[in-house]
Amino acid sequence: MRSITTFDIQYAHRFFGFQGEAQYLHGHTGLLTIEVEDTVDPGANFVYPCNEIKKTAWDVVRNFDHALILREDDPLLPAILAVYEKQGIKDGHPQNKMKGPAFKTELASAYPDCRLVVTKETMTVEGMIKIVYDLLKDKLNIAKITFTSGVNAATCEFPVGKSVDRCPLCGVALDENGVCPKCGYKK
Ligand SMILES: [Zn+2]
Ligand SMILES: [Zn+2]
Repeated sequence: MRSITTFDIQYAHRFFGFQGEAQYLHGHTGLLTIEVEDTVDPGANFVYPCNEIKKTAWDVVRNFDHALILREDDPLLPAILAVYEKQGIKDGHPQNKMKGPAFKTELASAYPDCRLVVTKETMTVEGMIKIVYDLLKDKLNIAKITFTSGVNAATCEFPVGKSVDRCPLCGVALDENGVCPKCGYKK
């Protein structure tokens, strides 16, 4: 069975090199849906607590929220960084608090201090699914990711091989010693 979690993400981007309107900087509210698959844990009677999926995924996903997402070869990138630098906000601001830990993968790098994500490929809905799966595949048993943004939507299913050992009392994944990080239950 699957546990399903959704996220709203506000972001700005553009399709650099594209011929249509999307070559201009613009914004979206994107809806990201992550489906996690496993057996129904007999103790907790759910696959995985959705608030725990949310916590794990949001650590990564909030880097895209209220962020500017640009491709690495976009000339807007140095231009915007120069403005942020001049304004003194490139390396952070006391009120820029909703930050996740920075990440760097083959597909994308997050700079939470200036709310910027730099991508290797154009950030289409398909591109977002590839980036998010890559960031979360080792943390969650992801069976499907769907991303909707404006009139664009994409979805992708992923093979789920293994089952994760979960706490029968609160449903969260046990650590490598078989201990629940939330309530201390030991297998
Ligand atoms: Zn767009
Ligand atoms: Zn527990």
